[in-house]
Amino acid sequence: MKLYKSNTGEYNLVMAYPAIEAFALSSLGYLWLYKMADTKEGINALRISTDNISVNSKEINSISFSMSFDFDYLGVFEILDKLKIPFYSKDRDDSHPLVFAGGPVMTTNPMPYSVFFDFIIIGDGENVFNKVTDILMLKMSKSETLKKLSELESVYVPEFKNTNKITRASVSLNNVIYTPIISDKSYFKDTFIIEVSRGCMNRCAFCTASYTNLPYRYYDYEKITECIELGLKHTNKIALLGAQISAHPRFNDIMKYISNKISDGINIELGISSLRTDAISEQVVQTLVSGGQKHTTIAIEAASERLRKFINKNLKEEQILNAVKIAKDNGLKGIKIYSMIGIPTETDQDIEEFLSLAKKIKQENKGFNIEFSFSTFVPKPQTPLQWAQREETKSLENKQKYLEKKLSKLGVESKFSSAKWDYWQTILSRSDEKIAPLLVEVYKNGGKIGAYKKAVKTLDIDITKSVNGFDFSDKLPWDCIESNTSKQLLINEINRLSKHKP
Ligand code: SF4
Repeated sequence: MKLYKSNTGEYNLVMAYPAIEAFALSSLGYLWLYKMADTKEGINALRISTDNISVNSKEINSISFSMSFDFDYLGVFEILDKLKIPFYSKDRDDSHPLVFAGGPVMTTNPMPYSVFFDFIIIGDGENVFNKVTDILMLKMSKSETLKKLSELESVYVPEFKNTNKITRASVSLNNVIYTPIISDKSYFKDTFIIEVSRGCMNRCAFCTASYTNLPYRYYDYEKITECIELGLKHTNKIALLGAQISAHPRFNDIMKYISNKISDGINIELGISSLRTDAISEQVVQTLVSGGQKHTTIAIEAASERLRKFINKNLKEEQILNAVKIAKDNGLKGIKIYSMIGIPTETDQDIEEFLSLAKKIKQENKGFNIEFSFSTFVPKPQTPLQWAQREETKSLENKQKYLEKKLSKLGVESKFSSAKWDYWQTILSRSDEKIAPLLVEVYKNGGKIGAYKKAVKTLDIDITKSVNGFDFSDKLPWDCIESNTSKQLLINEINRLSKHKP
């Protein structure tokens, strides 16, 4: 169900999501930009995804990709392949559609993918996307269009990379963004998703959601409640989205607003994307429970208090224990506790401290469903840990086995990300354009781990730097992006945090 009226026109803009349609229909940013295009006079906007490509490439004027995850490039190739559009920008001429991209992956480091796209939007899409579509609709030649686009300050045009300094776009949040399409095909079935805030003021040293979205912004309380009312006209499933929504200055009022409605007999199923551990209160948990939620997740991020200070998480053991107790005492059935392993400076002592915390959580909350979930640390561009070395896969796998064994003895369930895939995520995150042939080779060989190993053997591409890390003096692939977090600020921050090294 579209919550707006479409417009149409002569210009065929295909907006592709490089994964299955269920994920496309749950992606707020993607759907919002689609609505912008779909309501713009002169544009015939079409939505496609890897499992739904009902379009003839001959009729496409341009095609955009929204990239949220590092491995989304495989979906980009899959769609281009099916549409018979050449992967490399240099192999496309005026007879082909213009191919461009945006989204979190592009904002963090567009370089590994830059040879595939004619241009890339860096940062918040809302304003710049409008300017981009104005230029596209002029239907000039490829070279004229790219020249004109390179004059926009948040559009990176690789062809003009030497003259094109890019500033990350950051908009002020006025009218609330929500999912303008509600669908039972969405991963979040029939759910109306509302953006409450953008970014996070906490600035954990590894977190791109915080650092690439500075400054932290949020919508007014009144606008959020108006938006909740709009959603309730169409569905009873409401989800609040934001990297750190509990930091909203009126978060408790928003929860109270929803809880009062539920008490008045209005059926609301509530979903909340993330909660800070220290924001878990009786009222918040009771609202979640009355909104049908059975479990929640808290992210403690690192094994010990010392390590959490080093990544600027600053979460004490007693706050974690308290949050779990509140969750249990106020009606939730269980809790998932997320952490990373392999954060720089992590020692055996940190891991032991984690196990002792797990034991206390288990002992103090008998009968409560507790699950630990771990990923391995992936250093990300544009954060204070962007220079860090990635721990060796073997060493991480040994830590995983050890934790699994010990947690199982405590009677606690644990889940682990694949250290091998996280290794490749590190490489994708911190590479430059030289990695492009490897990406194509991996796609051609099926995109599994074996394909990466094979591609490394076949092609002479040096990936050591993106694994071993960088020096402060190194030129970084993503240095061309100007933002309000300068390199010096990141250096100052990691130097400040280094006082928490063991
Ligand atoms: S609290 Fe969460 S969202 Fe905020 S900076 Fe830390 S990891 Fe990122």
